[in-house]
Amino acid sequence: MSFLNSSDELRYRSYYTRSFDHFYAEESVAEHPAVLRAREVAPDIPFEMLRSREEVPAEHRRARTLLAVGGRGNAVGRCPGTRGHICCNYLTVDLYTGCNLGCSYCIMQSYLNFSPITVRIDTQDSVARLGHIARLNAGRLVRAGTGETGDSLWLDPLFNISAEILEGIREYPNLVLELKTKTDFVDHLLGKVDPAQVVFGFSLNPTQFAEVEEPATVPPALRLAAAERSVQAGYRVAFHFDPIVRSAATAEAYAQLCTELGRFPSEQIAWISMGTIRYPKELRDALPDRPYLLDEFVPARDGKYRYLQRDRVELYRAMLKQLRAVTSAPVYLCMESDVVWRRVFGGEPQELPELRRLFEDLEVPSVGEAQ
Ligand code: SF4
Repeated sequence: MSFLNSSDELRYRSYYTRSFDHFYAEESVAEHPAVLRAREVAPDIPFEMLRSREEVPAEHRRARTLLAVGGRGNAVGRCPGTRGHICCNYLTVDLYTGCNLGCSYCIMQSYLNFSPITVRIDTQDSVARLGHIARLNAGRLVRAGTGETGDSLWLDPLFNISAEILEGIREYPNLVLELKTKTDFVDHLLGKVDPAQVVFGFSLNPTQFAEVEEPATVPPALRLAAAERSVQAGYRVAFHFDPIVRSAATAEAYAQLCTELGRFPSEQIAWISMGTIRYPKELRDALPDRPYLLDEFVPARDGKYRYLQRDRVELYRAMLKQLRAVTSAPVYLCMESDVVWRRVFGGEPQELPELRRLFEDLEVPSVGEAQ
């Protein structure tokens, strides 16, 4: 197998065989190289071809079923952002729908009760649209990511789709793809894709929180080790403290995590983001009753429930101080109000020289406009 080394072959064969008990592919993509690769990596998962996704038997519509679908067309959009809050100008590429890494706070939980983990195999249209947007915004930094509706790297050693997208966007130097993950699955890409166009993004939470609330993810210490391997191989990394949860136990652990980022050269950290836990009211019932959800939450302007503004500001300020002591990498807030931005950073992102380039306004044409 060309894209995995022999120890990774063994690791992933066993990992994916434990994770899935059915693998379906729509007829239109059954012979696609990405599907053939996945069958080669995990030959023990029973495979079946279907005319369409509607044929997945009702009893297999769940997170232990993998479904590869065709369906060209637009999968690229603006990060949905949220009303009254500052969006980070990120483009999302929807390749995956669902994830069975089991984070207790994940909004995918409600979706997963009824659906297989779905992978959109054909990336041709997404690559073309990303290219179009990059051309329209020549000279500006265009950031895109595949981690909005699933984990960017969780299934990548199976399908190797990220490498395909990166190959497709090579001619657009202003376009950067972030692969955001709670795994350490980076090794199949190191040395094989262009370091100028990829950022490996790691979500971080304290170990004691992750052990309970992110049970099937790779432990944060191993994510940091993967970040180190990426940096040593010449790649840039990003870190996301999201969702930040507060408790007497986590305050010290976040401080420690921030300090740990000091081992990465600042110039190889593309960005760091922070976002406190939030949820829309209608999803609260879908979330399990976990201790961290029994805290005090209030509805913000976008209708999502968050900690009180003064508490969020306090959390962000404390972490920013700890980060600033060890790194000069850009730090920003995810889905926060202009007021919180001003109270934490003294200004909105476009007023802050170190963030201006990340938050530059992008021209994103509607789907169907000439390319
Ligand atoms: S890794 Fe991301 S998509 Fe997967 S369960 Fe956790 S929060 Fe949800």
